[in-house]
This record gives sequence, C-alpha cells and structure tokens, in this order.
Amino acid sequence: MTVKDIISKARNEKRTILTEIEAKQIFKEAGINCTDTRLAVTKKDAVSLSEEIGYPVVLKISSVDITHKSDAGGVKVNLKDKSEVENAFDEIMASCKAGYPDANIEGISVQGMAKSGVEIIMGMIQDPKFGSVLMFGLGGVLVEVLQDVSFRVVPLDAGDASEMVSEIKGRKLLEGYRGQDPADIPYLEDMLLKLSAFVADKPEIKEIDMNPVFAYKDGAIVVDARIILEEE
Ligand code: ADP
Ligand code: MG
Repeated sequence: MTVKDIISKARNEKRTILTEIEAKQIFKEAGINCTDTRLAVTKKDAVSLSEEIGYPVVLKISSVDITHKSDAGGVKVNLKDKSEVENAFDEIMASCKAGYPDANIEGISVQGMAKSGVEIIMGMIQDPKFGSVLMFGLGGVLVEVLQDVSFRVVPLDAGDASEMVSEIKGRKLLEGYRGQDPADIPYLEDMLLKLSAFVADKPEIKEIDMNPVFAYKDGAIVVDARIILEEE
C-alpha cells in the first residue's frame, strides 16, 4: 500500500492514529529502515509469520486505542520458538483485554528482534509558529528524565541535520561510550534529511514518533513508530 492508500484507509475508518505497521510501511517508502512488521490475527498466523521472519521475534499488541503498548503488557521480546510465540500471544491478549476492555484490537504484530544498539528517538511535531519541526534525541530514560532533545524547522539542510545530532548533551553516548560501539552518525543525519524531505509535502501528517530507533556502528533501524494525522 502507498502512503496515500494508508492515509485514505485511516480516513475511511475515521481515525487519526496510524498503527505501528502502517507507520513503518510509510517510513519504508520514505527510505527509512524499519523492522519488517506484519499483522497476525490468530495465534496460528503469529507462528507462521514468526517462521517466515525468522526467530527470535517480537510480538506486540496492535490497537490504535493502546498507545503505551508495554505498559499494557502488550510487548514480548526475544521469542525464540513456536511455544514462546504461542504463550506470548495469549499473554498479550489477556493482559490488554483486561487493562483495556473497550479497546478495538486488530491483532498482534510480529517483527524480527533487532540487536540492541544506542537508543535514539526521532520525530516530527507541528509548531503553531514554525510549522513542521523535527526532533532528535537519545531514547529511553534519557529522553524521559533529561529531555535531551534538539529541534529544527523543516526543511533541513545537511548542516541542520549535523547540528541536531551534535548539539544534544548526551552526544558522547553516540561517539562510543565505555566500550559501546559508536553510532553511525552520518547515517542518522541522513535519516533526518529523509524524514525532512518526506514530511515537507505531507500537510496531513500532524505528528511522527520513532521511539526507539536502534543506532549501530553501521546503520540504524526503527523498532517502534507512530504517526498521527491532522483532523480532516
Ligand atoms: P511502547 O513504546 O508502545 O511501549 P515499543 O514498541 O517501543 O512499545 O516496545 C517497547 C520496547 O521493547 C522498546 O523500547 C524496545 O526496547 C523493545 N523492542 C520493541 N521492538 C523491538 C524489536 N523489534 N527488537 C528489539 N527490541 C524491541
Ligand atoms: Mg516505543
């Protein structure tokens, strides 16, 4: 499905929140690397998708009504075989249905388990004064506690992308802190430029959240993604 198709499907269903699967399909079209993520409606689907994708896999609740999937017991990582996938499927469903009895659940998404890297966030928000603004920062507790993020107005040029990465306080973590691999900074800058080019002509997109992105010595991958559309 193209970006247009995904957005019109959401419009038809009167929703402004896109699922993780839809958001990743859109980013893929924008040339941004994401974990291959597919929808399982039944437990049997989840097992066959896991086998196609290859173990270990991650299962997540797929519902536009559940924003914080892990808080709802809706994420199980590093599942190594069929029985772990089957158990995870049941546990996710039970936990999410108990916590969100009114949620509309479309199924459970299956994706490959990405190897760990430096956790990054990237996103886009609409500022009433500046329009589309990109955000870059370190993920996990660092963003929650320290709010160590940088912003630039779209469209970005190469200098903006480079400044966004270099001006965060935690940049040492990207440079290879205490034996950890450094992050591929030129690759991250390129992701920001791709995101900027992508959102520049998409006024119907209100908000983008890639949290987290795992950054590696070579490349990076988006493991969780969300897109919110403007009201029609
Ligand atoms: P939410 O933010 O809605 O709670 P996430 O999709 O971000 O859910 O998943 C929670 C955490 O699980 C992530 O921060 C990440 O550490 C881990 N995770 C999610 N997807 C993957 C994946 N494909 N590979 C490895 N780890 C993952
Ligand atoms: Mg997340």
